Amino acid sequence: MEYVEHVVDLVGNTPLVRLNSLTRDLKPLVLAKVEYLNPGGSVKDRIALRMVEAAERSGELKPGGTIVEPTSGNTGVGLALVAQRKGYKCVFVCPDKVSEDKRNVLKAYGAEVVVCPTAVAPEHPDSYYNVSDRLVSEIPGAWKPNQYANPENPASHYHSTGPELWRQTEGRITHFVAGVGTGGTISGTGRYLKEISEGRVKVIGADPEGSVYSGGTGRPYLVEGVGEDFWPTTYDRGVCDEIIPISDADSFEVTRKLAREEGLLVGGSCGMAAAAALKLAERCGPEDVIVVLLPDGGRGYLSKVFNDSWMSSYGFLSPDHSGASVGDVL
Ligand code: PMP
Repeated sequence: MEYVEHVVDLVGNTPLVRLNSLTRDLKPLVLAKVEYLNPGGSVKDRIALRMVEAAERSGELKPGGTIVEPTSGNTGVGLALVAQRKGYKCVFVCPDKVSEDKRNVLKAYGAEVVVCPTAVAPEHPDSYYNVSDRLVSEIPGAWKPNQYANPENPASHYHSTGPELWRQTEGRITHFVAGVGTGGTISGTGRYLKEISEGRVKVIGADPEGSVYSGGTGRPYLVEGVGEDFWPTTYDRGVCDEIIPISDADSFEVTRKLAREEGLLVGGSCGMAAAAALKLAERCGPEDVIVVLLPDGGRGYLSKVFNDSWMSSYGFLSPDHSGASVGDVL
């Protein structure tokens, strides 16, 4: 019989898929690492598993404990999956701007969700930050993974994503491209690939225009999960050879093309990373092998990136856009 003991055993070992239509006029081989095929639907399953197991080893998380994290999305799902497997409770704190659908996903996995007002200052007692800190001090046996400062976040990529890419490409990868949020993916994977290739593999970060990684101040942008207005300790400033800033418009255009032309229904940060990979590919040769990591799936964004009305309201739909999408009356 062929089966795994628990769905958590399926985290990692995601496949590489060649991008065809989008790279038609380009010379290098461009491969996508498809992270939505993780059991929780995103790359964050990797960090959830490693952060929890490290906290068990260090004694910070004890049997029957409660995981408390300010998160509304992918990290919450990963943590909820791992918590279920290991018998922990989960309390996630999210601002009220987070859609009800996203909150319901976390509840569906059995987590408790505490909603805080978005329109208060960070120092206000009801702010997202203060509420999660208060819950950690009030709930007995509570532990906060803190993905922005937890070294196990980049370490999970150093030990899983990096070695997978080296093996899958038989050491032929020349460039690794990923979006930067906490910086865990790019720092851990990038450091592994640089070490094993003795510096040959180039590491390229993709960043929303306006975010700190590409020299901005944190000016608002619409692509979710990437870019920051501060420098998290999980980001290793020494690992990127280059950061390519990408506009929301380009991120969303490529996101939609990935679904329509490549059959990859993925999130907006995937389009951003792929847009950076395509820019890079324009200056690469036929010997080059570019891998771009696509962090999550597109179903969580049907009312945004894949909705024509939403796209039009921000002026994103280009005149050559055609075909039906969510929200159209058919
Ligand atoms: N895309 C999405 C959708 C994410 O949730 C995240 C994580 N914040 C990223 C990209 C960036 O990954 P990392 O935090 O490892 O830099």
